[in-house]
Amino acid sequence: MDPNCLFCKIVARAIPGKIAFENERVVAFEDIAPQAPTHLVVVPREHFASTLEVTPARRAVVGELVEVAAQLARERGFADEGYRLVYNTNRAAGQTVFHLHLHLLGGRRFGWPPG
Ligand code: 5GP
Ligand code: ZN
Repeated sequence: MDPNCLFCKIVARAIPGKIAFENERVVAFEDIAPQAPTHLVVVPREHFASTLEVTPARRAVVGELVEVAAQLARERGFADEGYRLVYNTNRAAGQTVFHLHLHLLGGRRFGWPPG
């Protein structure tokens, strides 16, 4: 855990978060500023900054983030209709929290290309 990291604090329940799912490796919680009817952030418990720090040892947990997001999409009823998964990486993509996270957005239509 990085003591200065917001998402580490949510994972450790040091600050409040609306947790939607958790297991030994992965936690999903509601985004504080939702951009869709469902907007969850899915994170590994392990702290690392971004997709640039995915290594062979981390491949499994990164895959599990996608699997957990798909399961949450099914449970919330928009899997068939469709949903958007996003990893923002560094400045040009608007990354603001440097603990790897997968955005799960669902419940509305999404434009392409994204803004
Ligand atoms: P990024 O822009 O780094 O891809 O995404 C960071 C996300 O974290 C943003 O969507 C932002 O709304 C969310 N966020 C920022 N602060 C908090 C917080 O204190 N709690 C929760 N649940 N989400 C947060
Ligand atoms: Zn962290």
